[in-house]
Amino acid sequence: MITTNCHTHTYRCKHAQGDADDYCRAALSQGLLTLGFSDHAPLPDGRWPSVRMAMNELEGYCQAVATARQDFPGLSILLGLECEYIPEYAGVYRDLFLGTHAMDYLVGGAHWYPHRGEWTALYGTPMDGPMLRDYVDYLIAGMQSGLFAFIAHPDLFGVCYRLWDAEAKACSKALLMAAADLHMPLEINGYGLRKPMVESADGQRYKYPWLPFWEMAATYGVKAVLSSDAHEPEDVATGLLETAAIAQRYGLEVVLNPVARAPASKAP
Ligand SMILES: [Zn+2]
Ligand SMILES: [Zn+2]
Repeated sequence: MITTNCHTHTYRCKHAQGDADDYCRAALSQGLLTLGFSDHAPLPDGRWPSVRMAMNELEGYCQAVATARQDFPGLSILLGLECEYIPEYAGVYRDLFLGTHAMDYLVGGAHWYPHRGEWTALYGTPMDGPMLRDYVDYLIAGMQSGLFAFIAHPDLFGVCYRLWDAEAKACSKALLMAAADLHMPLEINGYGLRKPMVESADGQRYKYPWLPFWEMAATYGVKAVLSSDAHEPEDVATGLLETAAIAQRYGLEVVLNPVARAPASKAP
């Protein structure tokens, strides 16, 4: 039984339902002991506003989690944010999020990546080999920043890169070797299991988790984090058993509480 989920959203990101208390109630009824909130982080320049909280909602978010900590003493509640890695905002992440707001952790989650000078969306933009290389370089830079306790859905490129071909294998190898070197856990994300599957020349598969990626991860000794990536309270623990089964199938070691070992989890 998996009793920790450190990837949870609230209504503030504009594509999730419910607030902290709703998720805590659901977590207790579904047997979780540790619940981490990791809503999509606000950005100082207001970038990509349709899928994240605004900066002026940050205070209310922290307050909602603080109130939940008082109201649900049976649950270990962690405060965090899921962040796009934007190098010029590393100071904001460190000083404002981990510092001023005393967050327990940050999750690195890429939904855009820089390609030829433009931020390119993973969703909706078909990806070729050079784009995949840029995505992987970007993810590795995020891991090297030391800001993140773990990296969410590193295999999200499965939504826009079709085939598990030589390029996918080479790029995944680079990503996985970097994660192993940096002792950075990678998340097997349960949300992908709830999304429509894709048809490709390789057959039907999940957009993510992309199973050959995780099979390869095991060969490099990468450690896995399991999460529901809940965007609705009733999904607070959805997919944890299935992601655990994926880890077990390939012999991946699971980090049950990724926040406990986060290098940047202590406020300065
Ligand atoms: Zn989301
Ligand atoms: Zn997420």
